[in-house]
Amino acid sequence: MGDEEHEYRAWLCRRFPSLYTLARLNGPDAVAELEAIGRAAAADPVRDRLLALARRLGIDISVSPRIVALPGAPTPRYSGRIYACPEDRCARREVRAPGDPAPLCALSGSPLAPRSA
Ligand SMILES: [Zn+2]
Repeated sequence: MGDEEHEYRAWLCRRFPSLYTLARLNGPDAVAELEAIGRAAAADPVRDRLLALARRLGIDISVSPRIVALPGAPTPRYSGRIYACPEDRCARREVRAPGDPAPLCALSGSPLAPRSA
């Protein structure tokens, strides 16, 4: 599975709750498709189906390139730990502030797991 697919999965994982809201406004077919994509994500690429659904919902998926620090710029500091998708299903990374609950992975339903990097 390529990096690009991983980024689309991360997008799906992070936006799943808001996508769900949009899909419900669109109708039962859109909800069924979103749920099917979520289930299929365990084994199959999601990119094409996700793009088709996004078009149907009228939203733009821009999978942005990873943030790269400018030369000479101070290294960004995170106060919390970095949490990543369990089982590496997607490229999602979240910084969790102390005291906040761990974010949930929408694809597997499990909380994101702490990572050292
Ligand atoms: Zn995930």
